[in-house]
Amino acid sequence: MKLSFRPYTLQLKNPFGLAHGTRNTTAIVLTQLEHKGIIGYGEASLPPYHGETQESVIAFLSNLKLEQFETPHEIEKILSHVDKTQQGNNAAKASIDIALHDLVGKILRKACYELFGIKTAEKKQSSYTIAIDELSTLPKKIKEAKDFKILKIKLGTKEDEKIVHIVKNECNKPLYADANQGWNDKSMALEMLYMLKENGFEVVEQPMPVNCLDDDMMWLKEKSPLPLLADESVKRFGDLEKSAEFFHGINIKLMKSTGMAEAYKMIVRARELKMKIMLGCMTETSCAILAASHLASIADYVDLDGPFLISNNPFRNPELIDGYIITPEKPGIGLEL
Ligand code: MG
Repeated sequence: MKLSFRPYTLQLKNPFGLAHGTRNTTAIVLTQLEHKGIIGYGEASLPPYHGETQESVIAFLSNLKLEQFETPHEIEKILSHVDKTQQGNNAAKASIDIALHDLVGKILRKACYELFGIKTAEKKQSSYTIAIDELSTLPKKIKEAKDFKILKIKLGTKEDEKIVHIVKNECNKPLYADANQGWNDKSMALEMLYMLKENGFEVVEQPMPVNCLDDDMMWLKEKSPLPLLADESVKRFGDLEKSAEFFHGINIKLMKSTGMAEAYKMIVRARELKMKIMLGCMTETSCAILAASHLASIADYVDLDGPFLISNNPFRNPELIDGYIITPEKPGIGLEL
């Protein structure tokens, strides 16, 4: 197997504002794994708050010795080797995992969801993220999201009630909220949760900081009128078990989980723990999003809007019909160049 990679910078259509900062671009690295003339495609997306950079990904990938594997079919063995190479580097690892699943799917002529034994594609509509911005720009952003039937609203600011008021005025869609750790006080967080419940929100991500007191988060979970999902608090399989004490569910993202194989394991374990599952994303190209879409039918909430937030997707956008991101019925992840 031969690995190649190149850095690329995604341009965001609108400034992407979160409780902890705003940005206009996302750095990524695109990977290719080739075996006997067949190419699998992968991607590492690198939002700044995760600590990985194009340089760190390229350094990690440059150190891998994948030539030692004669065939790509020993997926578990190869990914275990990649994982042990160095700690962290979750997005870099995901870029190998995605390319490997794409490659093996193409060789076996099977769509990736079939590789995981996922049988029926029970479809779920994807949400579209409305990031934090000047209040006056929100109506325009909500109109731009017309092709999506669910909105995910970024909160965790001093103006959350005003944001919610504008959203409710502008649309009548199902709503998710993401506070991105923005509520520092448990009583205030609970008030916000009741406000969101009254306004018809269905679920709330990461209300309090990752390093808040365990007792505060347990208190909030017990009293919350809405299901609370861990995002920043849970990256990999090893984080899952403990999070069940503090959250009703988790947001699983390929860039945190090191790719599809571990994301699938997390979904299976989260189900056993009776946790809700959101399948989320970073700002990503069609590559990582289509990879995730193969797992979407076994999640409760799907938030795979990445390619629709960027203006220079190097691949064809995923097909979006009636708010559903269509999982291609093609070998591998089904990416079109
Ligand atoms: Mg989130």
